[in-house]
Amino acid sequence: MSRGIKKIAEVALPLPIADTFHYTVPSEFRGSLKPGSRVTVPFQRRVLTGYVVRLLQHTDVENLRQIADVPDASPTFGEHMLELTRWVSEYYFCSWGEALACAAPPGAIVEGKRVYRMKAMPKFGVKLSRREQELVALLNEHAERSLAQLQRATGVRALQNALNRLESKGLVESRHVVPRSKVGPKKVRFVAPLVSPENATQVVEELRASAPAQAKLLEAVMMDSKPQAASVLLEKAGSSWQVLRALERKKLVVVAKKELSRSPVPEVALGQDKKVVLTEEQQKAYDIISLAVRADQFAVFLLKGITGSGKTEVYLRFIEQVLEKGRTVIVLVPEISLTPQTVARFANRFGPHVAVLHSKLGAGERYDEWRRIKRGDASIVVGARSAVFAPVRNLGAIVVDEEHDSSYKQADVPRYHARDVAIMRAKMCDAVIVLGSATPSLESYHNCEMGKFMLLELTSRVTGQPLPKVSVIDMRQQALDMHARPVISLPLQDKIEERLGKGEQVMVFLNRRGYAPFLICARCGYVPMCRKCYVSLTYHSTTDVLQCHYCNSSQGVLTICPECGKGKLTLMGAGTEKTERDLRYLFPEARIERMDLDTTSRKGAHQRILSRFMKGEIDILVGTQMIAKGHDFPGVTLVGVVSADVAINIPDFRAAERVFQLLTQVAGRAGRGREPGEVVIQTYNYEHYSIQGARTHDYDAFYRQEIALRQEADYPPLTRLVHLLFEGPEEREVLRVSGVVGRKLQRVASREKLSRVEMLGPAPAPFSKLRNRYRWHIALLSPHVKHVRTLVASAKEAHLAEQSKVSLKIDMDALDLL
Ligand code: ADP
Ligand code: ZN
Repeated sequence: MSRGIKKIAEVALPLPIADTFHYTVPSEFRGSLKPGSRVTVPFQRRVLTGYVVRLLQHTDVENLRQIADVPDASPTFGEHMLELTRWVSEYYFCSWGEALACAAPPGAIVEGKRVYRMKAMPKFGVKLSRREQELVALLNEHAERSLAQLQRATGVRALQNALNRLESKGLVESRHVVPRSKVGPKKVRFVAPLVSPENATQVVEELRASAPAQAKLLEAVMMDSKPQAASVLLEKAGSSWQVLRALERKKLVVVAKKELSRSPVPEVALGQDKKVVLTEEQQKAYDIISLAVRADQFAVFLLKGITGSGKTEVYLRFIEQVLEKGRTVIVLVPEISLTPQTVARFANRFGPHVAVLHSKLGAGERYDEWRRIKRGDASIVVGARSAVFAPVRNLGAIVVDEEHDSSYKQADVPRYHARDVAIMRAKMCDAVIVLGSATPSLESYHNCEMGKFMLLELTSRVTGQPLPKVSVIDMRQQALDMHARPVISLPLQDKIEERLGKGEQVMVFLNRRGYAPFLICARCGYVPMCRKCYVSLTYHSTTDVLQCHYCNSSQGVLTICPECGKGKLTLMGAGTEKTERDLRYLFPEARIERMDLDTTSRKGAHQRILSRFMKGEIDILVGTQMIAKGHDFPGVTLVGVVSADVAINIPDFRAAERVFQLLTQVAGRAGRGREPGEVVIQTYNYEHYSIQGARTHDYDAFYRQEIALRQEADYPPLTRLVHLLFEGPEEREVLRVSGVVGRKLQRVASREKLSRVEMLGPAPAPFSKLRNRYRWHIALLSPHVKHVRTLVASAKEAHLAEQSKVSLKIDMDALDLL
């Protein structure tokens, strides 16, 4: 055995427990196995997929098991991705394997199973238990059975012990099998002629007499000089597989399987894209970014520009420059704005170099795109959150468009923020990163103030159009004037009427679906709540049920209060359904459509409504958040916001920031065409600074107010925040475990003299019960990330030691404390 051979592999598995595990490398893989390679390994009684992160010469770990298989010819991850996922795991408190699983291509992580078979028949006189006898009988009937199959056949779950005993008696043996991934390259049958074009006519004529169907199909084959997909060809020619097989037997055509790439990039006519002359502001921003690109230097820019100021054009320009240097680019956009329109803008300029990655693609499509990127066939990746892990090589730049968007934060493990991972990745690759937004997150703007990011501003629209005029309507006054709480106030009614009269389009926005957000007993004040969640039920008129918007369960509508038995239940407040109904009542002539989760559940419904609105077939579009983002409708001149209050009243420290961002975004939908736009916001919180900031389009004024409040309360971005959420089916247990952890954290904080850490809680979370699980939480706030880390580590330890049914979710840089 030569010295220096690395026989031990350190493998990261997608388990929440430890980071890595050691395995021996079978000799046949010793040359080829590299860090970043995918492997399957036995783990306890399971077979898991993981990745090699290091190769070692020796280890102190005893009783090593062996790697079961190495499924791929080359490693999945290079050095950079190993480093990046390592950082993700440390920063977001998950295991390395969990971070790698998140960056892995679709279908890569599969769990294997153990199958059992008879090895030898029991000798006469060997004593077996009833259960063992039963298993021997079953295994005798079949070649192999998995544990699950045996469980089903016997109707018993606890078989493992009996199987282990049979194995140790030498009667049964077992092995691991890993199912092949369901996702793989798509192979399609192609047809090509074996007849030369010169002879074709004659052959076809000869066939026509004896086999007319074959003659017809052969003609169709000859029409195209390239091989054609068999299924497409048969449909076009109105023919069948039998006919094709007959031609194949006669050696007139050849049928062969070929890999087909399922590309989700829309086919757009190239050359439509015209290169514009940059405005002075755009040019200035471009020049500065360009310097960093030329220097191959890591730099973070915040491109702050109002809607329609030409941010995308700036991205396109410097991307071009990055590509010219032979480097690659990742463009992140929020999931919701990843429309064909967005992709087309990039595809138009860069054609086949563009790849698209997002969760709405089928696994097959995503797999193909992933491989195309990995092979180096695509140099620009446009995608949602997880595209930050796209396997590009020689990364030169990342764009994070709408960087403030909360969809960049992943809700599940690893709970990463794609913007922050993108910054880290850019740093590791000496790449340039540009964050774009009309309403930057407080974090990013604060980072500009601290000199960490460089601020670039676009202050006017390219078209020279002014921003829409925003008026705010005080609904308290309206309620007094109208002696009611109208959904659509009189001033808004008038404006809608005026716009419709001119043949212009209107958008009406309300961030709450359903008909009415709650029923209330007029006599005792009782409100029907979800039994599994502590939230009120929303009435849906189209289905006539009360629905919970958290767990989706629904129940029939009550008319008499079940609490006092006397009062009548009445509907309070408005959702999109009621808004739509009221608008139909007010404007019977108008063509009105609603777009929310309820009307877009069918595939393609979303796109259909938008394209009809685009074509002017809809006068008023009512909807939730869905209508607010990214779309460019030149015909819209008026945007009405039914209520800004739902969002303002959310008990969370980021509520005001969200309201400001949302209102600004909604307002940006108005006046994208030639006619100037107008926005009307209805609210019971007239003086609120987030509403006034949106009214005057004054980001800076809003920012100064908000950052002062955050400073006073020690909230982010001035501190790091970790949210610890305890959840369980029994409230007392949740309370107890969060209490144990809370006390431990206090002890650790005082022992380690972590004076600048603030701990809030344990306390019930604002949503104190969801889906039958009680929720308590602790928030840790500190300007020192190291202090927070120390405490989270102790929290994890204390929670683990309790071994209870209460789960602990750790959310680093949590976006909210709900
Ligand atoms: P943003 O991304 O800031 O919302 P876009 O980049 O989408 O802005 O620009 C808005 C519109 O103006 C687009 O239709 C774009 O093609 C056009 N545009 C951008 N820059 C210029 C320019 N310098 N000259 C003319 N048109 C431009
Ligand atoms: Zn519920």
